[in-house]
Parts: sequence; C-alpha cells; structure tokens
Amino acid sequence: MTQTTEQQPSTAALAAASAALEGKTPEEILQWAAREYQPGLTLACSFGGPSGMVLLDMIMQIDRGVEVFYLDTDFLFPETYKLRDAVAKKYDFQPVGYMSLITPVEQAAKYGDALWGRDPDKCCAIRKVEPNERALAGKRAWISGIRRDQTKQRANMDIVEWDEKFGLVKINPLANWTEALVWKYIFDNGVPYNELHDKNYPSIGCTNCTKAVLPGEDPRSGRWQGFDKTECGLHVPEGQTNEHDFGPEGREAMAQA
Ligand code: SF4
Repeated sequence: MTQTTEQQPSTAALAAASAALEGKTPEEILQWAAREYQPGLTLACSFGGPSGMVLLDMIMQIDRGVEVFYLDTDFLFPETYKLRDAVAKKYDFQPVGYMSLITPVEQAAKYGDALWGRDPDKCCAIRKVEPNERALAGKRAWISGIRRDQTKQRANMDIVEWDEKFGLVKINPLANWTEALVWKYIFDNGVPYNELHDKNYPSIGCTNCTKAVLPGEDPRSGRWQGFDKTECGLHVPEGQTNEHDFGPEGREAMAQA
C-alpha cells in the first residue's frame, strides 16, 4: 500500500460525506474536496479521456494549487503528449509525470518482448500501478474522473471512498455524470481534448493496447483487445479477485521492478 499521510475515516463518515455530495455539481464536490484535503489533494489526469479534461478545467478555476499528475507509461500516443503540452500552456501550469522505474528496454530484457501482448496485467502493474503509488505517496486524497456509467464495476462506486489499494481518500466528482454531459461541458467551455477522440478512439491509453472502435461498439472495447480486461488496475478495489485485478503476479512484478 502507498505510504500516505491520511488516517482512514470511519465508514460512517465516508458514507455521510458521499450522501451529502450526491446532489451536488462536480464543481461543488471539487470545492468541498479542496476545503477538506488541500494541501494534500491531487488530480489524476491521463490526457487520454474527456472526463479528466473536464476536471482539469474545473480545478484550475477552483484551486490552482492542487497537483495534477499523469502516468507516463513510455507508450503514450503522440497526440496525448501534444494535449499535455497544449493544456500546460493554456492553463499555465506544469502537470507532473510519473514513469515506471524500468525503461521499456529493461522491461523487455527482464520479461521478454511485448509483455503487454502476453500479460497486460503485469505490464500495467509495472508501468501504471506502481507509478501511481508514487504519485499518491504523501497525499491525503486523490481526484479521479471515473464515472458510474463507464463499466459494471464502477456502477456502485461512491462519490467519496476510502481507496484500500493506495491508502487514501478517493473522490469521484463525475460519478453521476454521463458521457454526453462530459462532452457538453467540453464544447460549452472550449476545453481542449485528445484529437484521437475524433478518430474513433473513445478511450485512449497506451499505443500497444488501444485500438479505434466502430460506431455503436462499447467505448472501452478498443482497450486490451483479445483480453478479458477493461481496467488497468488503478480503480479495482484491493483484494478483488476477478479478471480486472492485476493479482499477485503484478504485485510480484512491482516488487522486483
Ligand atoms: S496499457 Fe498496455 S502497454 Fe500500457 S501499461 Fe498496460 S499493458 Fe502495458
């Protein structure tokens, strides 16, 4: 588990906070989060999904002191880096990138070529989950752009949760929003977004594991095609043993990396 500074609130306190925020707007939830957890609040923005861009735009108007981080897996699309640089200029801030402890070359030497094609859970553990642990170290709470309408697993999440995996509070301001609301905010407010979205990439991760999807297909079906996997391991509850959990193999990989 990540070494964070936050004491775990009681289940009742978290449930009460979540219930009180259910009818609030994402902006109101972010304002509450900044009051409660800043300093020590951080926003995860992948530059590969529209929800993160909405939250980035909102947090820049609410509290510019909140750290914005992304996971640089070494396999991001050029369009993703381009968007990162464009928003850094637009909002005049510096997103903090966290990279794997090993390079792609070192990974290939240790685990063989194209690990993502044989064991994507292990690859995600090395290039996403472990860097995410470092990004959250010392923080009190993190803000995520995940929504209840994205996957079955996310359908029951709370707005405020205790993140067992990373050992701090997790806040999901867009839990009640839909894809349509996210895009409406983006167009209404002129928020930059990843240009791959206009080329049939509704969900954008690493180049190795992201494909364009056909109109009408599940928006996340372009991720990890050929595998029964829809999550990179960042948003799967600790101890959950299903196809989305990166499991002991992934943890072993992190420990050895
Ligand atoms: S998305 Fe693919 S390439 Fe990126 S870390 Fe996960 S398995 Fe590796």
